[in-house]
Amino acid sequence: MTAADGPRVWVGCYACYNNGELAGRWFDIDGGDREAIDQWITAHRARRDDPVYGPHEEFDAFDHEGLPRFIGESLHAALRAAELLEELEKDTGAPAAACVGILEDLGDLEDAGDVIGAGELIYCGEYDHPVWHELAGEHVDAGYYGPVPAELVGFIDYDAIGRDIEHSGRYTLIERPGGAHVWERCY
Ligand SMILES: [Zn+2]
Repeated sequence: MTAADGPRVWVGCYACYNNGELAGRWFDIDGGDREAIDQWITAHRARRDDPVYGPHEEFDAFDHEGLPRFIGESLHAALRAAELLEELEKDTGAPAAACVGILEDLGDLEDAGDVIGAGELIYCGEYDHPVWHELAGEHVDAGYYGPVPAELVGFIDYDAIGRDIEHSGRYTLIERPGGAHVWERCY
């Protein structure tokens, strides 16, 4: 994962925000690393905590990149998501966009943590449209349906097999231009 595609968060201070000032900056949070964020918060508080106007103690992710949308403004969720993304990339070899996509699809970090921890996700790869048709061809070639006599190959209905694969519920497509990343879920 490169610095350009995240995961990154723009961490901001609420006390400053409530006073009409935007105090914050972008941080790379690969693997859920929060050391730089904690250092910045400590330095910010040392300058800005005020005995009269009160402490600056609430910080959140005002913006983020390379993370699922559902984390909203939660810094805690952003860091946990970044941690899971790194784990998923290492375990499956999937590209960052595919990992963010499947996390988005799972929709909940606790569930995602269970699924990823159990090693239930297999990254099948990138396929061009029609994706289900392509997968059907691959499954037939790989012998999922047993050996096919050469004289019958021309009669195989790949679209029907593709529909069967689609309806099995085992696969999740993460759309990309011209095709999709394909994940398989093994229970
Ligand atoms: Zn502040």
